Amino acid sequence: MSKEVRLSDPNSKHRACLYIVATPIGNLGDMVPRAVEILQTVDVIAAEDTRHSKRLMQHFDITTPMMAYHDHSKTDVTDALIARLEKGDSIALISDAGTPLISDPGYRIVDAALNANIQVVPVPGASAAIAALSAAGLPSDRFVFEGFLSAKQQARVKQLEALQGESRTMIFYEAPHRLLDCLQDLAAVFGVNRQVVLARELTKTYETIKRAEAGLLAEWVAADSQQQKGECVLLVRGADKDDVQKEDEGYRVFDVLASELPLKQAASLAAKITGVKKNALYQYGLDQRKQ
Ligand code: SAM
Repeated sequence: MSKEVRLSDPNSKHRACLYIVATPIGNLGDMVPRAVEILQTVDVIAAEDTRHSKRLMQHFDITTPMMAYHDHSKTDVTDALIARLEKGDSIALISDAGTPLISDPGYRIVDAALNANIQVVPVPGASAAIAALSAAGLPSDRFVFEGFLSAKQQARVKQLEALQGESRTMIFYEAPHRLLDCLQDLAAVFGVNRQVVLARELTKTYETIKRAEAGLLAEWVAADSQQQKGECVLLVRGADKDDVQKEDEGYRVFDVLASELPLKQAASLAAKITGVKKNALYQYGLDQRKQ
């Protein structure tokens, strides 16, 4: 059974405690009762954007004072919060939506609180990544959360290429205006047949969860501008383990050949022997030489 929290008892305020409180990612019905009680009873709420969080506070009748906190807040904001905690105040950290610290501010204050021997307590609730994974129909026993990819295409492709051998399900956050470009890059790097899931506007009116091959999904999104709006999570099925093994063997053979032959010839031969793409091997060889 869960630990009983008697927050209606005035003595139940957990003193000198930093609560990390998840809030809904769209549907206010997802706010958990414990989060409401904690936000109502702490001394101060540290919010990513106090104006944004006002609506949530009004909806749940929370009148606790708020102050702004984000990870690039000046060090003195973190210090001031730690000083309040050391004095015995309780503080709740929230972000604009979902779980703080998950592609959101919070890491610095949690780190500082633990360094100051202050108790940090999570109050779990919604997170877009986990909500998306739970309904995506991709293997969920092992997954990797990559957060936001770079906004610049060249850098994004490099990040994706570094994940080519990843066999766990990959989860990305993406901005709506970059969704189509990102899908096209996913198809180019992982292949048009790789299974990808778009989880858009989760818990909201226009919630859409679409699972398709990368190439088809990119075409589907390109043909419907409605799909390029709102908030979205992209999930990519991990690489097939046999393919990863084949790829490893390709690079191993290439390394041996490239120590004796020109890069182009080594790439061509290694591709013939192992079936790994010649261009990928050649590019790998060039990258190795640059290092
Ligand atoms: N901390 C939040 C969490 O726990 O999910 C994530 C914050 S991050 C700044 C915002 C990104 O999360 C959005 O750009 C989008 O990729 C994803 N996201 C947030 N709400 C979403 C929703 N309702 N549906 C789909 N994706 C969402």
